Amino acid sequence: MMAVSTRPNRGAAMLEIIIGKAMATIFLCAGQVPQNFRRSTMRLVVVLLALVMIGAVGPLQANETQTAHGVVVLQYHHIGDDTPRVTSVTAAELEAHFAYLKEHDYNVVSLGEAQQLIASGEVPDKLVALTFDDGWRNVYDNGLEVFKRYRYPFTIFVNPALMAETPRLYMTWEQLRELESYGAQIANHSNSHAHMTWRRDGESEAQWLARQEHDILAAQQALEEGMGSAQPRFFAYPYGEYNPALAELLIEHDFVAFGQHSGPWGTHSPLAQVPRFPASAQYADLKTLATKIASLPLPVRSVEPKNMVLGHEQNSVEIRFAAIIEDFRAAQMNCFYQGQQFQPEWQDEEAYFTVEDIPVGRSRVNCTVPSLSESGRFYWYSVPLVRPNAQGRWPD
Ligand SMILES: [Zn+2]
Repeated sequence: MMAVSTRPNRGAAMLEIIIGKAMATIFLCAGQVPQNFRRSTMRLVVVLLALVMIGAVGPLQANETQTAHGVVVLQYHHIGDDTPRVTSVTAAELEAHFAYLKEHDYNVVSLGEAQQLIASGEVPDKLVALTFDDGWRNVYDNGLEVFKRYRYPFTIFVNPALMAETPRLYMTWEQLRELESYGAQIANHSNSHAHMTWRRDGESEAQWLARQEHDILAAQQALEEGMGSAQPRFFAYPYGEYNPALAELLIEHDFVAFGQHSGPWGTHSPLAQVPRFPASAQYADLKTLATKIASLPLPVRSVEPKNMVLGHEQNSVEIRFAAIIEDFRAAQMNCFYQGQQFQPEWQDEEAYFTVEDIPVGRSRVNCTVPSLSESGRFYWYSVPLVRPNAQGRWPD
């Protein structure tokens, strides 16, 4: 199958901008210079314009198969060697990651810059964003020197109610403000890091949603008071757990919200379900992390099931997603679930497969397929799932 771009002709759009700028320059000059100089300048400009047209159109046509790039958002928690390994990198590992990004010419952007580029639809290659969940004290204690050396922008998602309850575990507002001067933005991780989709006994759907809305907005207010300034509206779901009602609520309140399913943030990612790659523990190894940092966002238009939270009885589920097939061969897609590897079936542009033996708790299906135009790189898409126990709960 040939990879054919269906996007509007960017070459033409860019040429219009170039010609427009050149013409504006001619008219500006024309009013201020003598007649004979004006004619020769005009000729020169026409020649230059012709050269610009040849130069500008040539490579853009040759590059008509556009690879859809995205922003790879890395997710960290603790920095330390005496913290739970499953959510930790050591300071040395973090420094190795930062050095890798620098040596390989990655552009580390803030989430705000990432959001703007995604919204523009013109996402340059090699963009990475850095995030730290929970605001642990060790991020300040063990990360400060690394942050100072690299001056990369990064985002810390905090829980203001927990910070007030057990201050010894978390960074103070003063420490967070100090990190702000080395590139940090502080964002919302809910007030108390609860499982947000869990309803209380006897709570109606409307009461549950109102409680979540209050929690999200109270956390935002508390963190802006703590920081002494307005902070961008980014939200990380505790444990990466959400449902359609929560996603809709966050969009209503102008948040971009991040999960814990993996893949790059692309122009097709729903803004309240943005993926991130875990970069701690076994994922900190640069041998495998490098592949993820170089990955491309699979352009997915829609996915089933809509709700990552399954019923307790559901120990199997059919997953379907509609992908835009431009730069990969459907037959080369591989998916991975609980140590098993399989290939999805395809119906036109829709991939589908059934996963079985779904355990109680969180799990995720990852699908990857090689890019045709960029050798060694993979499109990546992940579907998060969570299956409750008989009481409608699951472990952290
Ligand atoms: Zn968290």
